[in-house]
Amino acid sequence: SIPLGYFGGIGAASRNGILIKGSNFLDTLANIQNVVMDKTGTMTRGVFKVREVNINAEFEEREILQMVNVLESHSTHPIATAIHEYVGKPNSEIKLENTEEIPGQGLKTTIGGKNLLVGNFKLMAKFGIQHDLNPNTIVYTTIAIAYDNKFVGYITIADSVKADSRLTIDKLKSLGVKPTMLSGDKSTVVEHVAEALGISNAFGDMLPEDKVNKVKEIKTRGESVAFVGDGMNDAPVIALSDVGIAMGGLGSNAAIETADVVIQDDKPSKIPVAINIGKQTRKIVW
Ligand code: ADP
Ligand code: MG
Repeated sequence: SIPLGYFGGIGAASRNGILIKGSNFLDTLANIQNVVMDKTGTMTRGVFKVREVNINAEFEEREILQMVNVLESHSTHPIATAIHEYVGKPNSEIKLENTEEIPGQGLKTTIGGKNLLVGNFKLMAKFGIQHDLNPNTIVYTTIAIAYDNKFVGYITIADSVKADSRLTIDKLKSLGVKPTMLSGDKSTVVEHVAEALGISNAFGDMLPEDKVNKVKEIKTRGESVAFVGDGMNDAPVIALSDVGIAMGGLGSNAAIETADVVIQDDKPSKIPVAINIGKQTRKIVW
């Protein structure tokens, strides 16, 4: 039988907007050694605003933005929302063929026989798109664009740190938990955010499988790990972690379904709250 204290713990969590899908997760959280977190949508608001559009002179900016906007309507990523907000309603006359979302990298499609790529510089490299830009000189999240196998330019977008992110890291550290941040965003942006939050272990330019490997590495050391994320490409790493945590508001369905714990109001400060509830529940049970 399950000791009564656990129900108290799950109830206390629920009153704090934290959904826990089994008492064993509270128990694991009580002694968790690592909290690994995604950046976008987890520690930052995941609400991007377009800052700058930089399209090479040989292309028509308006046409490029229209095509990018239509392609982004195939994505639920917060980046897509920012593009729609900037460009307006996607033009339904632009027809796409063979559209594909490449998790953690961007999107690809074909328009009138010409390919269109919209995503990060990894995506550009993957398709052999030549350019003479050093992505790390741009301090914002950058959406690179290629059309007809040629580099067209880029759009910079910016997000902001959630109000309680810094406090969350302080609390985790005071509980003796090691924080690590992993992101598919550019290293320069990731390092900037990590520094603002006081996280010394941060890695950018990570593909979904790189996130998985990082968590595997920690587990191989014999340490326990909770992962918190929001995106559909976080589902594999949420599944692999000792405790998988998803942001419930912004989070994708895949992340929420796979998660052991769901934070309904998207506040990272609920992570240390859950750990504390886990610790208190243990005191009652034993
Ligand atoms: P994070 O790990 O920070 O949550 P993601 O793994 O979701 O970030 O995405 C990593 C990167 O892939 C983004 O910073 C962006 O450059 C690119 N990307 C992902 N989805 C899209 C999209 N819909 N449009 C353009 N770029 C995208
Ligand atoms: Mg994310």
